Formats: sequence, structure tokens, C-alpha cells
Amino acid sequence: MSLEDRIKQLLKNREENTEESGQKKNLTPSTQTYKCEECKDSLWIPGENGMIRCQCFERERIKRLWERAGLNPEQKARTIETFQEWNLTSKLAKRVAIEYIRDFEEIQNTRQNSVAFIGQVGSGKTHLSISIALNLFDRGIGTVYMPYRDVIMKLKQNMMDEEVYQRSIDTFKKAKVLLIDDLFKGDFNRFQGKETMNESSVRIIFEIINYRYLNNLPIIISSEYNADKLLDADEAIGSRIIEMTKNYLVEIEGRENNYRLRR
Ligand SMILES: [Zn+2]
Repeated sequence: MSLEDRIKQLLKNREENTEESGQKKNLTPSTQTYKCEECKDSLWIPGENGMIRCQCFERERIKRLWERAGLNPEQKARTIETFQEWNLTSKLAKRVAIEYIRDFEEIQNTRQNSVAFIGQVGSGKTHLSISIALNLFDRGIGTVYMPYRDVIMKLKQNMMDEEVYQRSIDTFKKAKVLLIDDLFKGDFNRFQGKETMNESSVRIIFEIINYRYLNNLPIIISSEYNADKLLDADEAIGSRIIEMTKNYLVEIEGRENNYRLRR
């Protein structure tokens, strides 16, 4: 059962139980407050066949992934509102972020359900990507943060153990929404005058992108590489990203107001 279905089920259960629990509350008034009323912070709730994980378990798991990357998803340090526009490019990038947030509900299950901010270093790509991800997280949509280089490095370390590897890569393959921050960072190498890509990085990220592409799972991407460079890195990966982000792809080039918005 998907997270969304589970949440729907829980909401339904809650509605059915409202009357009953209302009566219970009157009999045993309690001053105790829980972060999650559903499971009283135990992370388990009764299911049809025994105990099942509460909806808050998944949220806590995702929250820990953010925290491991040094970010607290419940602190609103980086929001769309705090993003400062300083030129036409940043204004446009911000508008695309707002549109994506607005449209998400409607487009989430379509092929063009993703957003990317690519190109010029220092143009607020990470800020906007994180704001979108946190907005979705707030709306109860399981949105996983993937700081590209760190995660790829960890996945490589797990490659020898198939079971551990699959378990860790599944987090990024199957997340309801995935934010890939700084895609391909550190993967281009110069070798004997030729530019080459780190092959195991490509293999890992292809596995993630391709799975999400085939299953229409949204991606939020930031990368300092422009669309041509993403295609150079790996055509199969680059073309999937361009297709998925087609309606929300902001490509920033040069220092000032030089940008392309592929729409
Ligand atoms: Zn709970």
C-alpha cells in the first residue's frame, strides 16, 4: 500500500472512530499531548492483521534523512517567501517554483511531473529546490532529500552487499518525491585530455532516475550543469530528466539575465 493510500485509510479510520474516541475522552480526560495522536507516538497502530506502522513512522524516517544532511524540515529557514530575487533570472526561477508548487496536485502522476533548476553556480538553485521539497513535505507528501555527492558515495560503499545496497537505494528510487541536490557534482573527470564520467555514479543514478521515470515519480533537481552537459554526462539520464521536467525546467546561463526556460 502506498503512503498516500495508508494516509487515506488512516483518515477514514479516524472519521469512523471520532464518535467513540470523543466519548472516551469525556470519561478519561487527559492532559498528555502527543506529536502523533493516531499512535500516541508509539509509531504502531492496529491494522487488519495485527499492528502496522503508523503514518508518522514514514514521516519521521524521512525527517531523519533530512536531519542527517544537516537540515531540519520543520524549520522554515528556506521557503519560497525568503527567496530574494535580484534579477530577471532569479525572478523567473522563483515564479517556476511557485507554479510547480501550485500545480503539483494536478500533475504529480503524469510524465511531466518534475522540476529542475540547472546551470550557473550561485543562482539560488538549492534554495528554490529545498523550498519546493519542504512545501510538499509540509503537505504530508513523503519528500526525500538526496544530497547527491554524499548519497552516491554511501551507495557505492554498499555496492558489495546486494541486500544492503538495494535497501538503501530503494529510499531514493521509491520516495513519493525525490530532491536530488547538485546532480553529477564531482562526477566529471579529465582523463588523458578527455572528459569522462564516473561510471559507477552513472550506474547508480540511472537506476534511480529510470525507476522514477517508468513509475511517474516526481523529481526535483538542482545541478550546476546545463541541459547539454547533462546529456553529455549520460544521454539516457539527461533525456529522461529533460522529458520529466519539460514544463518546469529553468536553465540559467551566464552571469546576468541570460537564461533559457524550456517550455
Ligand atoms: Zn503516529
